[in-house]
Amino acid sequence: MAIDRAQLDELVTKLRRRAARLHDEVAAKHHGAAALESPGEDRERDNDDMSFVISEAEVETGEAERDELEIAAIERTLHSIEDGSYGICVQCGVDIPPARLKAQPLAVRCVPCQGAREQARKRR
Ligand SMILES: [Zn+2]
Repeated sequence: MAIDRAQLDELVTKLRRRAARLHDEVAAKHHGAAALESPGEDRERDNDDMSFVISEAEVETGEAERDELEIAAIERTLHSIEDGSYGICVQCGVDIPPARLKAQPLAVRCVPCQGAREQARKRR
């Protein structure tokens, strides 16, 4: 692995902090979305704004889902650091360049594999 222990420890700390913050955000967003969905609570909006209110609630829920995906990615990364598989492409098994990991600590694929995956996705 191309990353030293001190850098990994720092990354683990950072990821744990990020996951904790995301957990809070997800909880707050679920709460916020529920509040938006209950009509009559917010007197600043009239009935014409209902469609806006609903779509706003949907956006909030979508963001919470994205946050949950990120939490899952962080947990997967923390796990791979623990078992020593961090920084190895899950697809082809090469070491992911440290520069890529620095830019995208949650990356699980090397650049060529990620590129191929994105191409395959677009074709669908
Ligand atoms: Zn690869």
